[in-house]
Amino acid sequence: MDITQWIRSRAATGQPLNLHAVARERPDLLELAFAGPTPRGWRRSLMDAGVDPYKIVHEYEKDVQCAVCGISLAVIGTHLQICHDMTGEEYRREFGADRETSSESFRASHFGGRPIAGIAHWEQLWSRHYVIDWILRLHDEGHDLNFQNLVNVGRPLTAGGLLHFGSWDAALRAAGLNPDLLRHDPPGRQWTRQLVIDSLRDFAKLKKENRRRQMSISLDMAIRRYFPTRQAACLAAGLKYEEITLARFKDEAVVKLVAAIRALEGLKGRERRLKLDAIYYHDGNQQLVLDHYGSLQVLAAREGIAPRAVSRAMYRDEADVQHDLDVLEREGSSLTPDSLKNGALYRAITANGWGTERLTAKVRQPTLYPPCNPHSGQLRDRMILLRRRLRICTDAAAGKTGISRKTWANIENGQVKARETSVEKIERLLEEHQIHVSAAL
Ligand SMILES: [Zn+2]
Repeated sequence: MDITQWIRSRAATGQPLNLHAVARERPDLLELAFAGPTPRGWRRSLMDAGVDPYKIVHEYEKDVQCAVCGISLAVIGTHLQICHDMTGEEYRREFGADRETSSESFRASHFGGRPIAGIAHWEQLWSRHYVIDWILRLHDEGHDLNFQNLVNVGRPLTAGGLLHFGSWDAALRAAGLNPDLLRHDPPGRQWTRQLVIDSLRDFAKLKKENRRRQMSISLDMAIRRYFPTRQAACLAAGLKYEEITLARFKDEAVVKLVAAIRALEGLKGRERRLKLDAIYYHDGNQQLVLDHYGSLQVLAAREGIAPRAVSRAMYRDEADVQHDLDVLEREGSSLTPDSLKNGALYRAITANGWGTERLTAKVRQPTLYPPCNPHSGQLRDRMILLRRRLRICTDAAAGKTGISRKTWANIENGQVKARETSVEKIERLLEEHQIHVSAAL
């Protein structure tokens, strides 16, 4: 069956024909549509089959899978932080720059969809195929494909091109176009490798003298054309990368940051974690870490700092738990499950058995209700189980637990992370109705 026939049969039965659905159903046909020196693309393939790209049925996956552990959630940002101690940037560094941290349907529902060069979108998600389809369409309709021009009339397209192809030239080539014929360099300014190096040195000099802050887009694009990375271009020009990046990325800033993180080694529990966040998310420090080390873990390893100093887990070991119990005791709090308003501490105690002997009332039976990580999808499973057993809708379930309807729906859809108080309310209702949670949940 060829592409045209397949499209017609799908369209006739009302089945999805958007790029992401086709990539799942028939990746071979999709690749075929984008193969060769002059690809047809998917949009033109639809039109060849007599199907209007604006009228196709769209289908998106509701969950995205975590590349580390394989769990599926609508968004995995919080999961990455809680379960794998990594940020979205670190995740993409490890698993690829275009690795998604939210599901297709989540992204489709947040798709801006502003027209590009005055033309409306026919898909609701970016992908390498969609970038090519756009380039082909703009080219067909006589639009200017110069990068600088497109930045002004459709920045998401140029951003998508850079993300999926590394450079705008590569994106044009993937669409079967010759970038050299489309280029707009001013007369007499044909870039060469040597000219890029010279211009980069000029820029570094101007920057050092505080006469320029950012390089021109034209130079930036030329660097991408001749070098795999900016760092490689700096190396060729005999410059340090710091000389061409923003002024705040200075060696002394790194030294200061490392010292601040080293000071965390001696702290425990909540205090350490809050200070770590305060340092990491302060004034470009995150970028500094990513640029110089790649991740906090690498920083710690390279600077000889104990791994616990950079862990995002609030309670990494028993010492953390005991420390925070000490603090509460000093403050005169009674150590009962109810008084432990800090849910993370209570969870760490019940999940690991750390410091249980210090609690003055019995902890909840762990076998009947095994500790549930609210960010792992377990909580959502429990919420659905609860509704099914009680045969009630989300509104009624929300009412019974005392959570707002919107919050219930958002948690169950994986749109927001549940707060400790919500987790407790849901577990209390399960307990009330004697709904046993199997080990799998
Ligand atoms: Zn995971």
